[in-house]
Amino acid sequence: MSGGRHVDPLLIDGSLGEGGGQILRSALALSLVTGRPFRIERIRHNRRKPGLMRQHLTAVQAAARIGCAEIEGASVGSSELCFTPAALEPGEYHFAIGTAGSTALVLQAVLPALLVARGPSRVVIEGGTHNPNAPPFEFLARAFLPLLARMGAKVDIQLERHGFYPAGGGRIAVDVQPVGPAGLGVLHLHERGAAVRREAVAMVANLSRDIAKRELKVIGRKFDFAENELRIQPITDSQGPGNLLSVAFEFEHVTEVFTGAGEAGKPAEHVAGDVVHEARAYLASDAPVGRHLADQLLLPMAMAGAGSFRALPLSRHARTNIEIVERFLPVVLQHRQEGRVAVVEVVRR
Ligand code: ATP
Repeated sequence: MSGGRHVDPLLIDGSLGEGGGQILRSALALSLVTGRPFRIERIRHNRRKPGLMRQHLTAVQAAARIGCAEIEGASVGSSELCFTPAALEPGEYHFAIGTAGSTALVLQAVLPALLVARGPSRVVIEGGTHNPNAPPFEFLARAFLPLLARMGAKVDIQLERHGFYPAGGGRIAVDVQPVGPAGLGVLHLHERGAAVRREAVAMVANLSRDIAKRELKVIGRKFDFAENELRIQPITDSQGPGNLLSVAFEFEHVTEVFTGAGEAGKPAEHVAGDVVHEARAYLASDAPVGRHLADQLLLPMAMAGAGSFRALPLSRHARTNIEIVERFLPVVLQHRQEGRVAVVEVVRR
């Protein structure tokens, strides 16, 4: 990080494209990585409750601690923020969101910088670990981090306690070894390779096992899973009730994980039906990278300065993320559609 405070801050419009929290998280991550300060206006402008929520505020505070940053506007509901990092400090950190806000999304804001810091770090984050609309723990552990490992990142993640929405109370512990002076390695991910195994797990915390059984019945029937590919996981360490269905497809070169979180009033069959819908779209294509994985690979691949992947058609979320990444880093994330597959390639400017 090179003395951010002498450089003009980048002005980021939080209403751009998708206009959600990703713009803020990516800006925080990239500001820490590059040392470039930024000012963001109209934070989460297109969301029903705009401005910083607890999860975003914790991400801001976490990034500020790790980057010894000066911050202005960091309060719940704020729609403007100035972030001026000074120095990247690896070490031991503990961040508590205080709600069921997603621990994975707080991690998104700080992990890229910890990978290029000058020493190892251990980060403990408390909040939700199995949230709707955020990467559940299993997605990080089985889909995202193994790809990051192929880029040279040594990240060990432990689930210390489950936390479901709305009670929260979960905890993850993440040990990060920096990648060293060579930076992140280049990943080219164009093929899935041979199918290795598949598995559906239905977690239930303080709820009837019957919910899990009904979800797994749908998965078993729709994908023709055998009995030993279906598993009920009763959760005993959760503060509140919770249910998460996850279906993992492991291939030689990639594992994709599709998840659905149970909600009060949503029948188990509908939770499973949504997961079936998403997994089917993936299986109908031969692209290795699904919708969420595409989102999350963009930033580390841009940091590597090169790399490419084939994915399902890019979401608006991913395209917005590309715009933010290109503001901070000297790369272009070229993307073109080849039939029903998106091809993404990182090139240096
Ligand atoms: P906010 O709601 O705070 O404004 P946002 O708009 O950025 O945030 P989302 O678009 O829902 O929130 O996405 C947040 C992140 O979570 C993205 O990186 C997305 O890829 C990831 N994500 C969402 N759902 C899943 C899922 N089921 N599995 C894996 N990752 C997911």
